[in-house]
Amino acid sequence: RLARLRARLTKSNNMFSKGLLALLSQDSIDEDVWDEIEETLLLADLGTEPTLELVDALRERVKVEGSRDPQRVKAMLREELLKLVDPSLDRTYLPEPHPDRPSIIMVVGVNGVGKTTTIGKMARVLVAEDKDVLLGAADTFRAAAAEQLATWGDRVGVPTVRSEIDGADPASVAFEAVSAGIDQEVDIVMIDTAGRLQNKVGLMDELGKIKRVVEKKATVDEVLLVLDATTGQNGLSQAKVFSEVVNVSGIVLTKLDGTAKGGIVVAIQRQLGVPVKLVGLGEGPDDLAPFDPEAFVDALLE
Ligand code: GDP
Repeated sequence: RLARLRARLTKSNNMFSKGLLALLSQDSIDEDVWDEIEETLLLADLGTEPTLELVDALRERVKVEGSRDPQRVKAMLREELLKLVDPSLDRTYLPEPHPDRPSIIMVVGVNGVGKTTTIGKMARVLVAEDKDVLLGAADTFRAAAAEQLATWGDRVGVPTVRSEIDGADPASVAFEAVSAGIDQEVDIVMIDTAGRLQNKVGLMDELGKIKRVVEKKATVDEVLLVLDATTGQNGLSQAKVFSEVVNVSGIVLTKLDGTAKGGIVVAIQRQLGVPVKLVGLGEGPDDLAPFDPEAFVDALLE
């Protein structure tokens, strides 16, 4: 699985690694080369502050060690990148099981980022681990959304609670789902939500209400924010809005297979102070992986 993740990331991050390593293996690393390195990191969406920090650290180390051996510089770059990705963050995405009730995972994010797909993929992983899962279709705004979630549910073999009425109150559907999860003594309830970002106040009201209403039954253990890696800086501003609205506890970065801008992982974690916990690497049911900082950095540099 790790090998597959690596292969995918390597393919998608060629721009990042080829560019950097070619630059770093030049005979003399002069100002122009450092500028180009900065540019490459910025193009990979690492973000301004982390880029400057990394280049400063690397320059200093190259100076102190006096080594321009490409292998050595690559090792230094790896270490500095890993520091930025921060391997010390807690990336467990499964809440500790409760003895008397299901764990509740709320999944939020703008339409089209991959929320429903991610829930389907996660449910599949959980079922494979012998967990009882129930899905709640609280994205009642688009009829197709509930349908799509139920299709994933069927495919994976888990029940989906949804409303028969279009435009039903999302909070009441979420409440029904959690109630059903408690009655059926499942291990995990995952709630899909709507993401209409056009209206921040409306979104805030809706997500806040879902959480409040659900918490009449059981505390929400995990709020996963799903972001599309291909949207770059746009994704960052979305992330900010959501983190103002709900207490995001983890990030799922989807569509990492479709971008050369893997640096966005660092930028997002920095901005939100919340770890990337899972990555989406394709549209298929198995294309979800826990985020592994070491493998990620290696893949960037391969
Ligand atoms: P939602 O509106 O947030 O629920 O988004 P969906 O789950 O409906 O996904 C939107 C589109 O993105 C679908 O076509 C998915 O197949 C696709 N998608 C989701 N995750 C990934 C991923 O990790 N990689 C790729 N390439 N496509 C993805």
